[in-house]
Amino acid sequence: MKELVLASNNSHKVEEIKNILNEYNILTLKDISFFDDIIENGSTFEENALIKARTIAKFSKKTAIADDSGLSIDLLNGEPGVYSARYSYEKNDEKNIEKVLTKLNGKTSHAKFVSVIALVKSNGEELTFRGECQGKIILEKRGKNGFGYDPIFYVPELNKTFAQLSAEEKNSISHRKKSLEKLTKYLRENNEN
Ligand code: IMP
Repeated sequence: MKELVLASNNSHKVEEIKNILNEYNILTLKDISFFDDIIENGSTFEENALIKARTIAKFSKKTAIADDSGLSIDLLNGEPGVYSARYSYEKNDEKNIEKVLTKLNGKTSHAKFVSVIALVKSNGEELTFRGECQGKIILEKRGKNGFGYDPIFYVPELNKTFAQLSAEEKNSISHRKKSLEKLTKYLRENNEN
């Protein structure tokens, strides 16, 4: 089975990516005994995804992928963006949602989720693949599934938030599904890994 090392410690992301890339053997950071923190000091999703995948490709000497993702809200000029994970200065989903709703101050807004997958090959070659999912931020949480901002990210076509979708439903339309689809198309067409 084709093998990729996934540079992520986010268990929700690891689960989603493993489900979507079910034709690949996905090794996690634990599998390769990597326990350090990676400092994500880029200013774009692309830069941060590359920082993570590059570090892990170098460490493992294998082909690595990383997802950098987040929520971009129109009314907040694209915030929380690359700061999505720690928008409230803590890695705390509840507090991050609270901060978004406080900043929106009673208004709903168009928003999109973005996922950028970086691929760094064992020979050092680097590529990125971007996926986006459009939706709307609603002012009260709905649903219990998923993670992060899922309870306030509403998809009008489905009349549901991401947190009201099953894992299968979310993984068939999400930003991460779209970026990973581009990755697998590239790998297939280039007969790689
Ligand atoms: P990263 O690990 O730096 O890429 O942080 C991504 C952050 O963006 C997560 O911690 C969540 O807050 C948010 N995020 C990314 N993808 C999703 C998603 O699919 N649902 C909900 N929140 C997400």
